[in-house]
Amino acid sequence: MRVLVLEDAKSTQVLVQKRLEKMGHEVDTAGNGQQGYQMAGANRYDVIISDIRMPHWDGYKFIEAMQVVCPHLPIIIVTGADNDKEVHERLDQYENVMAVLPKPFDFDILEDLLTHVSVKSHGSIQKKARIVCTIGPASNDPSTLGKLILAGMDVVRLNFSHGSYEDHERALKAVRMAEENWNKPIAVLQDLCGPKIRVGKIEHGQVEIVAGEMITIRKEEVLGNKKAISTIAPEILDDIQPGDPVLLDDGLLELKVLRKDNSGVVCEIVVGGVLKSGKGINLPATKLSLPSVTEKDWRDLDWALNHSIDYVALSFVRHPDEIRQIKKYIADAKKRDLRVVAKIEKPEAVNNIKEIIEVSDAIMIARGDMGVELPAVRVPHIQQEIIHLCRRMNTPVITATQMLDSMTVNARPTRAEVTDVSTAIYEGTDAVMLSQETATGIDPVNVVRTMAAIIGEQERYGEQLVTDPDQLSAETASNPALILVAGIKNTAATILLDPSGKLYPVLSKWSRRVPSLLVTKSLHVSRHACLYKNIIPIIIREDLDRNAMVFKAMDHAVQMGCIREGDLISVVEGPRLTRGGMDQEGAFQLIKVPAKE
Ligand code: PEP
Repeated sequence: MRVLVLEDAKSTQVLVQKRLEKMGHEVDTAGNGQQGYQMAGANRYDVIISDIRMPHWDGYKFIEAMQVVCPHLPIIIVTGADNDKEVHERLDQYENVMAVLPKPFDFDILEDLLTHVSVKSHGSIQKKARIVCTIGPASNDPSTLGKLILAGMDVVRLNFSHGSYEDHERALKAVRMAEENWNKPIAVLQDLCGPKIRVGKIEHGQVEIVAGEMITIRKEEVLGNKKAISTIAPEILDDIQPGDPVLLDDGLLELKVLRKDNSGVVCEIVVGGVLKSGKGINLPATKLSLPSVTEKDWRDLDWALNHSIDYVALSFVRHPDEIRQIKKYIADAKKRDLRVVAKIEKPEAVNNIKEIIEVSDAIMIARGDMGVELPAVRVPHIQQEIIHLCRRMNTPVITATQMLDSMTVNARPTRAEVTDVSTAIYEGTDAVMLSQETATGIDPVNVVRTMAAIIGEQERYGEQLVTDPDQLSAETASNPALILVAGIKNTAATILLDPSGKLYPVLSKWSRRVPSLLVTKSLHVSRHACLYKNIIPIIIREDLDRNAMVFKAMDHAVQMGCIREGDLISVVEGPRLTRGGMDQEGAFQLIKVPAKE
């Protein structure tokens, strides 16, 4: 049987390990709850034996985390407080606690108990790629957000197409509470709705429109019916030309413009069906003069500048200037380092993709609107191309929309959805996104756990190394120490001293077998790093010299369960002037994590 033992006293740990090994079990040990959580996420155990009083994460916190990631993995508690009624009452609430035994260990009782453990398969949830979750009524409370974090959420998306400022403020507070409770930084991404064009109000909420009949999109506001509808953005009618297609409700319905007159635009219904109030309008062939950033977007952006938001996503981007304009506004405001994500969904954005990646901090492949603005059959190839370009240009990329859509209402994904997530990881995406699955779905935690498992499984097979020698030499020229990292195979992690912030995007793109532990003073930087694959931020606020900093970082990483005593790790540094006055270009070091008593 594979057993994980959580015990903070070293001597007890060694004793228990030896006795269990003598009984024929395979044993791993951890010194606190977070180490145990990491190890149980990365390996397959049959049973866990845990203390309650431990530093950092105690036994209760560990049990709660395990309820989220491996709910059926049995835990045997061994505690000196086994006579305490309160302890028993608390432990009784947890279904995954199999038994509570007294301390010191009675190995006969333990052996007997282990024969009653039914061995089940418990999947691993460790992953490198990031998960972005859209938060809504199904997930915006601190308890659910905590569980989403444990299950693998890295970035929260607040969708500004819905909800009031009060709603977003409440959700943001809940995120920050959950983040602190589980001491895992979380990036928050504000998604601006941009110039989303919608149908106006319709009589009784919906109308059936019939193929072959005529319908007018009117300039003035009308209550829509079979013959005429209006739009919330009547200025688009000036841009529409005869022959243009008009797609309604994500392209489910289609009109073709026949002519324009004083009242509006007269169309033939090409594909009919039920049209509901407020459904989206897409104009894939029309050159629109609408601004990409609406008045509401500017107000929402101001809100973000005054709240703890880390990324802002701009919808319906067409040209790099739109990103430059937003970045300038953010820089001029001098309030916070808000990073800008370009959502790629318009044909113009696909045509300008290189220039848009160049000026953006991150990219989102918004496949929902993209599949309406462009023929849906083109989406998979565009996705591949964008992921490839982002990899070359060291820019994080999020693959979004309908990834596990059926899990909004079902407990299991379709095989096609599993393949879709897995393919995006194989192609090298940095992050995958959930929309209504986590905002309004029946079980957001189950969705994230499922997504993490799919990612982890794919990552076991594909270690994407830099295969393009030109790219490798260009990147390593900026810090020759990186070439050494690429060549070393048997380390457990890389500690990255990167105050310039220039190295971690490169190491993230290499998607190495082992994580890069980014040492930073700033919570803000560590939140930004949450969008970068395989980068684990470690916050050290003290002013320490270089060696003390490395020791401290190792200490933190051991506590968090990222590395273990005795592991070989590498340390990579960016350029700096050393204490001895050397103008250092970069540095690489191999060290062994010291054992502590
Ligand atoms: C999309 O269209 O895929 C998307 C992510 O944008 P939104 O959900 O804001 O429509």
